[in-house]
Amino acid sequence: MKYKRILLKLSGEALMGNQHYGISSEILQSYSKQIKEISEMGVEIAIVIGGGNIFRGVAGVATGIDRVQGDYMGMLATVINGMALQSSLEAMGVHTRLQTSIKMDQIAEPFIKRRADRHLEKGRVVIFGAGTGNPYFTTDTAATLKAIEINAEVILKGTRVDGIYDTDPEKNKNAVKFNSISFDEVYKKGLKIMDMTAFTLSQENSLPIIVFDMNKEGNLRKIIEGKEVGTLVSI
Ligand code: UDP
Repeated sequence: MKYKRILLKLSGEALMGNQHYGISSEILQSYSKQIKEISEMGVEIAIVIGGGNIFRGVAGVATGIDRVQGDYMGMLATVINGMALQSSLEAMGVHTRLQTSIKMDQIAEPFIKRRADRHLEKGRVVIFGAGTGNPYFTTDTAATLKAIEINAEVILKGTRVDGIYDTDPEKNKNAVKFNSISFDEVYKKGLKIMDMTAFTLSQENSLPIIVFDMNKEGNLRKIIEGKEVGTLVSI
């Protein structure tokens, strides 16, 4: 096993599958199955999930919603996704805990680093909801922050694309994929993998990121086994 403790970042958008909004039960099942698989291997798994399938603060501004208010709505959306994932994992017999950066006593624990550590040591999958708890940030930044706090060895950024390319593979058929790349090169080439806040935080803390296709079953396990999947960004 290459990694013992990981932070898995799942985008809310990917959770939609082929739908235009909401949560695809197919994707939810597939993600849960893959998470269960690596949990049974003994990997300590923390998850940060996005909310873009339900609400984004910036998008709200266009409809007249105040940006800060919209960002809090976006953070609540991540809790909805986290609850869905929690329920789906528990239905498969995986023990989980949901911790949120905004207090919601009735449905989740507050984020407490030491408690999260303890859950992870006991083999529970810990889902972090409500992003950083602050407007103007993203769930990528939340993922990086939490990964550093819990000493995760790597951030696994599950997307719909199988890694980082020199140009957008959805627009350019001749795009070339990197198997590994340094933070410096990502910056120099102007490649987008995370927003700059998250990117800089990862770089400064020497926290590697693997960008991979989470919609291809088996990829998550392969990464844990040390196989070359997606693109590794490191110092
Ligand atoms: N958000 C925020 N602070 C955070 C994390 C998220 O304000 O720390 C809000 C922000 O409005 C964002 C929305 O929550 O647009 C959903 O998160 P994100 O866009 O990162 O989700 P993803 O793109 O991964 O689905």
